[in-house]
Amino acid sequence: MIAEVIIDSRAKKLNRKFDYEIPKNLEDLIFVGSRVLVPFANFKTLEQGYVIRIKEKTDFEVKQIAGLEENLPEDKINLARWMARKYFTNVSECIKLMLTPGTKSKDQEKRVKDRTINFVYLNIPYEEIDFEKIRGEKQKKLLQFLKKNEGLTISEIESITEVSRATVNSLIDKKILKIENKKIDRNPLINKNVQTGKKLKLTEEQKEAYQAIEKAIDENRYEEFLLYGVTGSGKTEVYLQLIEKTIKANKSAIMLVPEISLTPQMIDRFVSRFSKEQVAVLHSKLSIGERHDEWERIKNNDAKIVIGARSAIFAPFENLGLIIIDEEHDMSYKSEGAPRYSAKEVASFIGKSKKIPVVLGSATPDLNTFYNAEKGRITKLSLTKRANNSKLPDVTIVDLKQELAVGNKSMISNLLYDEIENNIKNKKQTILFLNRRGYSTFIMCRDCGYTLKCPNCNISLTYHRTNNLLKCHYCGHTQKVVTICPNCNSTKIRYFGTGTQKLEQEIHKLFPRASIIRMDIDTVTKKNSHEQILNTFKNENIDILIGTQMVVKGHHFPNVTLVGVIAADGSLNQDDFRANEKTFQILTQVAGRAGREKLPGKVIIQTYNPNSFAIECSKEQNYDIFYNTEIILRKQLKYPPFCDIIMIGFSGENEKEIKDSSTYVYNLMRKNLEKYDIKVFPAMPSPIDKIQNKLRWRIIAKGKVTPEVTIILNKCLQNIYEKNLKYTGIYVDVNPNNMM
Ligand code: ADP
Ligand code: ZN
Ligand code: ZN
Repeated sequence: MIAEVIIDSRAKKLNRKFDYEIPKNLEDLIFVGSRVLVPFANFKTLEQGYVIRIKEKTDFEVKQIAGLEENLPEDKINLARWMARKYFTNVSECIKLMLTPGTKSKDQEKRVKDRTINFVYLNIPYEEIDFEKIRGEKQKKLLQFLKKNEGLTISEIESITEVSRATVNSLIDKKILKIENKKIDRNPLINKNVQTGKKLKLTEEQKEAYQAIEKAIDENRYEEFLLYGVTGSGKTEVYLQLIEKTIKANKSAIMLVPEISLTPQMIDRFVSRFSKEQVAVLHSKLSIGERHDEWERIKNNDAKIVIGARSAIFAPFENLGLIIIDEEHDMSYKSEGAPRYSAKEVASFIGKSKKIPVVLGSATPDLNTFYNAEKGRITKLSLTKRANNSKLPDVTIVDLKQELAVGNKSMISNLLYDEIENNIKNKKQTILFLNRRGYSTFIMCRDCGYTLKCPNCNISLTYHRTNNLLKCHYCGHTQKVVTICPNCNSTKIRYFGTGTQKLEQEIHKLFPRASIIRMDIDTVTKKNSHEQILNTFKNENIDILIGTQMVVKGHHFPNVTLVGVIAADGSLNQDDFRANEKTFQILTQVAGRAGREKLPGKVIIQTYNPNSFAIECSKEQNYDIFYNTEIILRKQLKYPPFCDIIMIGFSGENEKEIKDSSTYVYNLMRKNLEKYDIKVFPAMPSPIDKIQNKLRWRIIAKGKVTPEVTIILNKCLQNIYEKNLKYTGIYVDVNPNNMM
């Protein structure tokens, strides 16, 4: 028998099948989905590969498969092949998403299972390690890795990080690492102590939604639902009861939530309804060991529910019965690195092939999703009322131009000032939202207009006051503050733009007695401090929480009655066809944080564009009007959902090669795709034309990406891959999150 094998390689050129003979002794053991070792090219090393088809004979002279590693289910292989085509990437890259985290060979899997062996831990807290004394880059890298991933065996570390055993041992000798012979349980929920929660009696609306989805579960039928309901309308309660139903039918459920809302509060809600043995959690903050064990609990059918971020869609359930995607409009469901997949599209594929329903939930659905619901491709189920009868908050829009006109130059309008003061007096809590971190967001010379940019990226540096440094938010470059203009030697360097650090300082000045806590990437550093900040805010009744995007999602603070949006304009002015949609979503979500229980909530939105319809609609939290206005604009301008935006990115250090290769691809695409009604625009530098010293170019094309178009585009790309470009990386992103 002959197996068609895909080699495990990132090289785009190798993304094709190779034939191998299956040796007699493995004939009963190798299936579609087997991970095998095969001799390749120079015979010296064995390469890993995946069997994607088995057939009787081949026209080629072939070598034999050298060994079998493990078997993956066939449906996973089908999914990976579909993804590779759809997302213009290698099959093996897609298969990797479906393998148990942290396993590379069978041998190692055995070791992982045997819990009585030695595990590596930091001997001193990471923050206290004296990095001056550690010379080797490998050692530094290893410590960084272990900061998040303690409790692995040396073999695991070796295979995951490719750091040698000797490196680990030398750090053990230096007493920076230690070995412990402890049996550990790596269930991330093990320390949770949660009271059991009771099922609520559903409201009429909830019941209707529940029953429609229940029917699809009972009938083993794929159907896609949009559960459309304002924040607090009881969507989560519907999810919980649907999952309960699924488990009773002896099936499992996947529930995706945005990474950022995988908060303890959210997980508690599930653990209180189901037992912690039944719930598995998957997200990026877990160590590889923890992820490995959660994956195993799912595989062994111990866990029946997984709550996780995007990649949890690949959780290895055998008998999946339901997929739920909460806050389905969230950008994090689309991967920004290869494979650039959309978890929602993957969910539909799985739903269709397993014949199970997919539920998308949101208060502010993705415009595409809502459009599909209007067209009848998705079943819309609406929850129009808040479940606990709390009122929607009262939203006021403040025009910052008018504030300036009456002489208020501060970033806090008079109205917001009064309301904050009132809140402090009444011992109620306030959240202030500003979507920029740091202190000042750009630095300019007043004499010559020179702005300070990162030397590696074509991006303004941000001033961070806490450590008095300039930082690049793209590559992490930091440098000392500048007092003399590098361009004209003037000393009139000025700092502009407001970040959360400056806001915090100003609030301190304006309200010296108030307690304040700040949450952004700079304050959330250690493993749990996200949780700690939120708990402190809640339990110690801190007056004011200042934060970026992080404060927006999913949290439930009964005592928060005021939310202030410092500047709603940031996302409006972006060069992105989704600017209105992003603005509306974020404002509606921020507003949803106020007055979630008995206390009425107030929201104040400050803006320079009070007449923007996205801002006006968020005042009433009126998605329908927003949708009806925006969809007309999209149609006029021919943007999604009326077409797809294809972006082909080129990046590298050699400008000539980038120019030549992108022009070559442009010409190929024009020649082959224009007859399919795809408009291809010439290759040109991206808006941010340099990141981490790599130049960036792109081709944009607009049109409907049909399966046929996908095949042709894949062929055009194969053409350029065959050229073996030396310096240039190429990627394709369809409807990218980030157009910069
Ligand atoms: P969403 O997920 O839409 O934001 P939740 O499910 O979190 O809404 O519900 C909001 C609040 O209403 C929660 O405090 C929840 O306990 C309560 N709630 C939900 N459904 C019901 C119900 N049927 N009866 C009473 N209270 C409910
Ligand atoms: Zn200057
Ligand atoms: Zn940079």
